Amino acid sequence: MQLFSDYHTHPQGHRLQPYSQSLLQPWADSAREFGLPDIALTDHDRYHEGIDFDEIDQLRTANPDLKIRAGVELDNDPVHSSAGRKWVEQNWDRLDFVLGSVHFLRGDWAFDHAQEEAEFARRDVNEVYADYYERIRAMIASGFVDCMSHLDLVKIFGFRPTKDLSEILDAVLSDIRAADLAMELSTAGWRKPVGELYPSDEIIRRAIAKGISFTTASDAHSHVQQGENFERLAKKITEFGIREVCIFERHQRQVVAL
Ligand SMILES: [Zn+2]
Ligand SMILES: [Zn+2]
Repeated sequence: MQLFSDYHTHPQGHRLQPYSQSLLQPWADSAREFGLPDIALTDHDRYHEGIDFDEIDQLRTANPDLKIRAGVELDNDPVHSSAGRKWVEQNWDRLDFVLGSVHFLRGDWAFDHAQEEAEFARRDVNEVYADYYERIRAMIASGFVDCMSHLDLVKIFGFRPTKDLSEILDAVLSDIRAADLAMELSTAGWRKPVGELYPSDEIIRRAIAKGISFTTASDAHSHVQQGENFERLAKKITEFGIREVCIFERHQRQVVAL
């Protein structure tokens, strides 16, 4: 099985870098080299000022063999996301694909930053998980999202709840289904301390049972990270009996057989 699409990439990385051909062309080159003819550019909404639809159009013209989707990763950043969300709403018709993420927990805690592992050890992990999934539900309910990214990012450092979360997970997945969103299978978890795909096998099983469809994603912050561990992901997809993935054009989902 050949995976062909990477729907979570960050050409700007972790800082504002306005789109230009010199910034974007390496992403197209690597995508082609790695056998990924369909990619979505999904920079963080806090860097929306760097996203330039004309530059994306130029990139498409220069690379007619690739499908290049204009996207963004919208999160719940307490400082930037109200402007980010506004920008998404204003540019909805020019965007193909919007990811929904939770990167901030109670007290504006940016929990997934590398230095936050020690903070997890100090907190009540059950409460952290409950807070995280409530915020996921709020993100789903807020609209203007096509797909949920790294659904169980809260496990990033390997801290696990001791309470049974089946009920809230079931509510989250029902929300995703009801809102007709996709969910990504993200290899990024394999390079984090948890060393596990996002989301977990249990969540994938439950999502399949609910009829939720999946995108494939690396969350690349460098062009050479695109498609990272996709062979391993392909094996996993085969094990789960998943036979199709979805792609997006102007927010219209298409299901493609693998
Ligand atoms: Zn993210
Ligand atoms: Zn991301």
